[in-house]
Amino acid sequence: MRSKLIAGNWKMNGSLATNDAWVRDVQLGMRAFHSQKPHVAMCVPAAYLSQVQQLIKGSGIDLGAQDVSAHEQGAYTGEVSAAMLKDFAVRYCLVGHSERRQFQGETDEQVAHKAQRALSAGITPIVCVGETLAEREAGKTQEVVKRQLAAVIHANGHCISEIVVAYEPVWAIGTGQTASPAQAQAVHAVLRAQLNAATSHSDRVHILYGGSMNASNAAELLAQPDIDGGLIGGASLKAADFLTIIAAAAR
Ligand code: PEP
Repeated sequence: MRSKLIAGNWKMNGSLATNDAWVRDVQLGMRAFHSQKPHVAMCVPAAYLSQVQQLIKGSGIDLGAQDVSAHEQGAYTGEVSAAMLKDFAVRYCLVGHSERRQFQGETDEQVAHKAQRALSAGITPIVCVGETLAEREAGKTQEVVKRQLAAVIHANGHCISEIVVAYEPVWAIGTGQTASPAQAQAVHAVLRAQLNAATSHSDRVHILYGGSMNASNAAELLAQPDIDGGLIGGASLKAADFLTIIAAAAR
């Protein structure tokens, strides 16, 4: 069985002072979990990669980034390449987060390229997929998430078992409106079947749920058979809440 993966996403939050306190508190809290603790990662703003890399040394927390350029290097002002992330020992990188699809207009093809760049640098892309409320209400949830994942499978077929997938219904992100465990499980089962069809090593792939997961609802969501962990935004900012979610995944 895959051990659970709990990844936080600070989004555009944090400061040198608050990051320092957060890492200290989480590190301290994680000591209680001994050997049963799940894998834990924190996806931080690019500006804080260096600071957090130093802070988490020896803590068992892996470093994550929130985006990567689809280009290898060159005249792309403001972008951060996979090789640059690797310089800071980044282990995971979000790609295709719905906020980037929405505000930066990222397409399925760009997301697939970003996943490719991450993989070639030895970074595990956390590929985010999810439907909007209008798409869910139109009965298109499966069609949308399968299309988004298919683009990444198509571009990365030979190493698709090296990715992590995060199912994040757009209507649940940052809204406090969580998918019910049954709704989330149903979509995870579809994604699991799609991965099974794409690779004989699909059992290596974690499928995370994200979308208003918090200290109160994490245990029920994480108990679903095809939910292998969580991608947590708002609740990852509070060390105590994040630790409660880690504890729920350690059961
Ligand atoms: C996210 O940003 O990936 C996320 C799931 O946010 P939240 O937990 O705040 O809904």
